[in-house]
Amino acid sequence: MNRAEEDYIKTIYELSINNDSKIIKNIDIAESLGFTDQSVNEMVKKLSVKGFLEFIPYKGVKLTEKGVKQAVRLIRAHRVWEVFLMDYLNYSWQEVHEQAEFLEHAGNDELIERLYLFLDKPKYCGHGNPIPSHDGTLSTVFKKSLFEFNVNDKFTLKRVLDVKELLSFLDEQNLKIDDSFIIQEKNEFSGYTKLVKDSQEYIITNKIAKMLFGI
Ligand SMILES: [Zn+2]
Repeated sequence: MNRAEEDYIKTIYELSINNDSKIIKNIDIAESLGFTDQSVNEMVKKLSVKGFLEFIPYKGVKLTEKGVKQAVRLIRAHRVWEVFLMDYLNYSWQEVHEQAEFLEHAGNDELIERLYLFLDKPKYCGHGNPIPSHDGTLSTVFKKSLFEFNVNDKFTLKRVLDVKELLSFLDEQNLKIDDSFIIQEKNEFSGYTKLVKDSQEYIITNKIAKMLFGI
């Protein structure tokens, strides 16, 4: 498998977790990876020939058991490395993704397992994404975005999208995973949510509110 093929498999796996659906539309893959429909169609054909996914006419694609296994291996390695980089090498959460993209291909399953044990079996990476166990079992995936919460609700940040600009914004505001807030205001017209934590106010635009997930 080459890197491009692996990126597809990982993306399809993540989309099916986040969308609660095993079948993923080609258009969603294209949007997620920023590729054209044409190139997605070609890659999908290639991957189905190789047995990583099944093509379901008019519906989309579905990872085979072999495809899921490969996706879990890569995502697990990626997130375990991220934890190591953040906890032991003082990398920031903006920096780890790029390095983990390389590291996920380095070493075999045993290296990842040893690293996982060394890190005391972390359940989540620094962005709040669950680290799958060997057999693909996942801890809770936090899917409810801040945008879906209402005024006066309590919101605890549990997961953020791994998007550099977003992570920098959160750093500037000193907002972190597990921080809890009260939603003080939702302004539909101007499109923002006002959060309060320890009498400190935070203005979050709708665009950003859709990238933050919690309980
Ligand atoms: Zn991560």
